[in-house]
Amino acid sequence: MNSLKDLRRVVNHASLGRFRFYVQLFSFVLLIYGGYLAINVGNQLPTFACLYSDLHGGACYLLGFQHQMATPWSQLFGGRGLAILIGLATFVAFFVVFNKAWCGFICPLGTLQDWLSSLRRKLNIRAAGYSEPVFQRLSKIKYVLLALLILIPMAIGNSFFGLPKLGHDWGVPFCMICPGRTILPLFTGDFSQLAIDFSSLAKLTLTALGLAITGLLIIGSLFKPRFFCLFCPMSALHYIFSRTGLLRLTKNGAKCTRCGNCFRACDMGIRAIADDLESKNIVKDDCMMCGKCIEVCPEDGCLQAKVLSLPVYESTAEGFFKRMNRKNNG
Ligand code: SF4
Ligand code: SF4
Ligand code: SF4
Repeated sequence: MNSLKDLRRVVNHASLGRFRFYVQLFSFVLLIYGGYLAINVGNQLPTFACLYSDLHGGACYLLGFQHQMATPWSQLFGGRGLAILIGLATFVAFFVVFNKAWCGFICPLGTLQDWLSSLRRKLNIRAAGYSEPVFQRLSKIKYVLLALLILIPMAIGNSFFGLPKLGHDWGVPFCMICPGRTILPLFTGDFSQLAIDFSSLAKLTLTALGLAITGLLIIGSLFKPRFFCLFCPMSALHYIFSRTGLLRLTKNGAKCTRCGNCFRACDMGIRAIADDLESKNIVKDDCMMCGKCIEVCPEDGCLQAKVLSLPVYESTAEGFFKRMNRKNNG
């Protein structure tokens, strides 16, 4: 019994940030270069490992999902409908294991934004944030993008209100504007996705927009941590299923003093992590389950990462001071 208590103490005193750094590095190498070793962990991943990168070790669900959304409704009750359900079930099966920690620990595009933030700190550029009303408004963009990446492909396979169907050049609209498509292949020396496609108006519009968003991500990440994640439709899709996740982030509001440490540490700028004293499940739609809030919370058992109902990492006063001392002593 005591040894279990000791083990929990050791874990709660540990630096989750360092653990996260190594998991991110491992995941990045696996998902970007896995193809070198013929590794492919699947093409329905709830994360931006990109199929446009030839050596990928796994791929994002959104590409196949957009293709499937173009299925004519008349074919939904046949084999194509079954394929859509299997694809979605595989995505959810991957997702439930780590919940939104896919964003905090695994996504190569998220990791890249963290590395750009490290560069920002080295360049002594102060991090920017949004006011709460602006944050709330911007946070909705990801749901609009998610709706568009479903509706545009649907309008290719089907006619809405008697209007003509969209051309196939609109086929995978989100991939065409996704910075994952343009940036991730660069790590394998492939610059081909940086081009603008002039072959049709649709492709010209989407690929030019894609380059603009890529530039915004790079510049924005030098000022705002996780700049792109606030707008990411994958994050919106995650949130729909986040209640099914085995990994959970919980809060005991009775133990919270509203000191605000967690909010100040949160790269996503989620104010509710400090202000919300009611919700037990404290995973908000922009949360990436990085655990930074747990590390900086000084109250015993106030914030906890759990697998189902079993705490695996929790805030403790002792852990907080140990981490602070380590930080101050370099
Ligand atoms: S929200 Fe960020 S970390 Fe999550 S999938 Fe999108 S880009 Fe990746
Ligand atoms: S750090 Fe802990 S005690 Fe402070 S506001 Fe956040 S949850 Fe509450
Ligand atoms: S709320 Fe906590 S776990 Fe979620 S993104 Fe913010 S710091 Fe990370």
